[in-house]
Order: sequence, then C-alpha cells, then structure tokens
Amino acid sequence: MEFTIERGKLYMLQTRGGKRTAEAAVEIAVDMVRERLITKREAVLRVEPGQVDQLLHRRIDPKAKVHVLATGLAASPGAAYGKAVFDADRAEAMAKKGEKVILVRIETNPDDVHGMIAAEGVLTSRGGRTSHAAVVARGMGKPCVAGAESVQVDLVKRQFTAGGKKIKEGEPFTIDGSTGNVIEGQVAMLDAEISGELEELLRWADSFRRLEVWANGDYPHDAVRAREFGAQGIGLCRTEHMFMQQERLPIVQKMILAADEKERRLELAKLLPMQRDDFRGILAAMRGLPVIIRLIDPPLHEFLPSLEELLVEVTRAQTLGKPEKSYRAKVELLAAVQNLHEQNPMLGLRGCRLGLLFPEIIEMQARAIIEAAVGLKKERVDVRPEIMVPLVGTLEELRRTREVIDRVAQEVFKETKTKVAYLVGTMIEVPRAALTAGQIAQSADFFSFGTNDLTQMTFGVSRDDAEGKFLLRYVEDKVLPRNPFETLDRDGVGRLMRFAVEEGREVRPSLSVGICGEHGGDTDSIALCEELGLDYVSCSPFRVPAARLAAAHARLARVERDR
Ligand code: PEP
Ligand code: MG
Repeated sequence: MEFTIERGKLYMLQTRGGKRTAEAAVEIAVDMVRERLITKREAVLRVEPGQVDQLLHRRIDPKAKVHVLATGLAASPGAAYGKAVFDADRAEAMAKKGEKVILVRIETNPDDVHGMIAAEGVLTSRGGRTSHAAVVARGMGKPCVAGAESVQVDLVKRQFTAGGKKIKEGEPFTIDGSTGNVIEGQVAMLDAEISGELEELLRWADSFRRLEVWANGDYPHDAVRAREFGAQGIGLCRTEHMFMQQERLPIVQKMILAADEKERRLELAKLLPMQRDDFRGILAAMRGLPVIIRLIDPPLHEFLPSLEELLVEVTRAQTLGKPEKSYRAKVELLAAVQNLHEQNPMLGLRGCRLGLLFPEIIEMQARAIIEAAVGLKKERVDVRPEIMVPLVGTLEELRRTREVIDRVAQEVFKETKTKVAYLVGTMIEVPRAALTAGQIAQSADFFSFGTNDLTQMTFGVSRDDAEGKFLLRYVEDKVLPRNPFETLDRDGVGRLMRFAVEEGREVRPSLSVGICGEHGGDTDSIALCEELGLDYVSCSPFRVPAARLAAAHARLARVERDR
C-alpha cells in the first residue's frame, strides 16, 4: 500500500496484490475466509490454477541426504532423476527403451524438443527463466534447471562436471526444478500431495464449477492417483499402451505378422486374459465412476522394430556373407515391416480403420472390457464402462464398429447370464467428424474431443514435428498468438468444436461431451470448454487439481459476464 498523510488526513495512493508463493497464496486465501475477511468465492479467485500446479509436482524427500553439485535457475517446478544424455536423439532412443533420462545441454533450441519430450527433465548451463529450455519445459510440466553456469557441459566427451564431480553419459543424477539444485546420484522422491488448505480451497472451487474434471490414465495406479486428486471419471484409457509392455510385445508382434485371420485370432486369444485383467484393474479402481476405454489407435507398425534398424541388420548380415541363424526370420520381419510402412502413418491405417480391416482385434478388446465388467458386477462392484472408438470420420465407420462391440457384448451377456450397462461413443478428432457431428451422433452415446489430432488436422501441422521445427518460432514471431497444441485455437478448432457440440446435441440431446486431448488441463482451454457447454474436461492426473480450480474460475467468469 502506498499512502500519504497530509494535514492530518490519510490518503491511499495505490495498492497492489502482494507477491505470494503458491503455498502462501493458498494459505492466505483459506485463512482469510476462516477469519471472515473474504468470501469463499473471493478466495477461489485469489489463487491461480498455475499455482496449484506448482504444488503438485514430485519433490525430493526432505529426509534424503543430498549432495548438491551446482545450483542454477529454478526454471520449471518438480524434481526428476535419470541418466545423463547429451543429445535429443539419444534421449529419445533411450526413453523408447524404457530408460529414464535427463537431457543435458548448454542451451536448447527447437531441434531439442523431441528429446525434451522423451526426458524426465532438462538441465542447461546457459540461459534464463525465459530461455527456450525453461519455457518449453514449463509448458510440458517437466522439471527444468536452467542457466546452471557452474556446470561445465562437454558435448564432445559427452559428460559434465560440477562441484568437482564428473558425470558421464548414462550415469544417473537428479535435478530439482523447484530449487535449481543439481544433485549427485539418484535421490528418494515424494509424490505430489495435497495439503489440508489446498483441499479445502479445491472443495470450495468444486462448489462453483459446472464442468466435471476427469483424468486420462492407462493403469490402475493412474486411476487411484486421479481419484485422490478429485477426478470424477477416466476420460481416456489408451489401451495400446498395455500392448507395449515387454512380455506382451512378442505376442502383439506375432498377431500383427500373422499370415491369416486364424493365426491372428490365436495370438489375440493369448492377449485377451491380459487385457481383461488390465480393464478389471482400472474399472475396479474407479468403481462408481465412468471409465472410457478407447479401442486400439496407433498404426500397427508402431509395435514392430524400426524399418531402418532392420534394414541395417539385414544388409550387414548379407555383406558379411555369414547370415546368422535368425537371418531368415529377420528378412521376413523386414518384409512385413516394409509392407506396413506408410509415408504418412498419422493419416494412415490407424484408429477405427484397423478395426474395420481386422475386426478380430476389436472383438478381443470389446470382449475383454465386457468380461471384466461382468466379472466385477458379479462381485457387486459398481462398474461404468464406456467404449470409445478413435479416429472416426464418417457415421458408417462408427456404425460398423459399434455393431461389432454390441454383438460381442450380447455374446458375453449370454455366456455369463449377466448384463452390464455400457456406452459406446467416439472421439471427435478428425475435422470431418466435427463437420458431420449430427450424423455421427446417431450412433454415439458420447463425444470426446481429441484435440491433439483435431489441432493437427485442422491446422495441417504435424503434432510430432511442428513444435520442434517451426511452431514455437511462429509463436515467438507472433505469426500465431499461442502454441495451438498447448492452448485451444478458438477461431479454428474452437469453431469446429462449437459446431459439433450443437449439431450433436440437436440430434441426441442426452449426448455427453468432453475433451481428452492435452488441452483438457490448460486453463484458457478449460475456459473455452465452459463456454462451449462441454460436460467435462479430462487431463493427466497431476493436472486435475489445477483443472478443478480453472473450471471454477471459468464458471465464475461466465456468470459474471452473463449478469
Ligand atoms: C487426441 O488426439 O487428442 C487424443 C486424445 O488421442 P491421442 O493423443 O492418443 O491421439
Ligand atoms: Mg488422437
């Protein structure tokens, strides 16, 4: 407060909101309500969703002994450990093998984005809080220590030195993006948790919001965490992630490479009990709440070894003239991979197209879902399965897929003499689906906007490469106001969404509509979802609490505007 006293009179000149850490903002807001100084509504509006986000990242266990090697800028909150890696390609390759890595660079640029996506966190020796590394990592919700000048990064020797220690590529270390510390070795961490005050504030937020907040999660442990954070359902369970697990991949590969339907069904029969267990776990964890399970989505070659690697191996074996024992198998595999290869796989044989070509795959998935649900119902567990069809562009695609699902469900009900209620709906992620939403709604119990693909296809920019290649530059140069993969593009994607909601509900007034693309956890995008009248947003479990607050802000702003 700035004030003056003139001839015995007090003049207030100006006031400004005090800067508070995230913890303080929550505590002050809650205390002031308890002291009857402000209303709950005011308290909710005094905390930014971004501040809640800060409180919800992994942190170093305070009891852990740590040896700090260097301190840089606390550029993006949360702590992470992983093996040091010095270039983005290698970070990506190691992460694909399931290893946790931290990307270490002198500074990053858009070429590093794919490595940042793959890494647990980022360390740079140069650059400030608004450097590329800091801004991009914050956007991704990944820990980042930036501008740690005492860290000597040697990209040629692939090592860094700090605090008299040398960390070579492949050696583990820890970063704490909340303090800026670079720490030796692997340190014990605590998962994020919600304090009593924050819980209270979020409960108040819940009383103001209209939008429900659901979570995207593939495993029972995601579901448990999501529930703890207040999720009201699972908006997206990506079933293919379960296919990628080590012990399953060989079966999945055999299934893909099967010579005919009979052989494929043999492999699918092995996958059925595994998927049934997966679904049982997630449905049980979310008892009483809806769980949207999506049928297989990515192109099949994603489950096979890379074409380039196979080519190298086969060529090497041929050149050396001593084909190894497995040579013939490799050649066959190469032929199969070449056969499945597509120039544009994101626009290729994926999503519902797979199920229309190979119905036995989705038969297996539908059976696994319904059998899991029936099994739980027999144990008196309240299950609410919803089956989602990806990449639908026409009514006929959805209608035919739905036919398979409904047929399988009836078979299971007959076999088990038990029925469960289930819904069948679709992602709206192809522009044509949004534009023909009225037709598609004839066969859909629900819509869920897949705004990752919808943004990609509406803009005609690759969700995999564009950010690294030119999109962030576009934002820097103000060609675009925001990164459309982070915040929904109101004018384009938003209009398609509005159209789809209106047309869909006209045909089917009971149609439930949500969003499960990454935008579901973004504050400004949540405000748009409120305006469009969506029923829920679905985001990663860690973003659920901030989304609850953002949904309350969005509602309160709307009520204010409509007054
Ligand atoms: C999407 O496209 O927005 C979506 C949620 O699906 P995925 O990211 O798995 O393609
Ligand atoms: Mg998608």
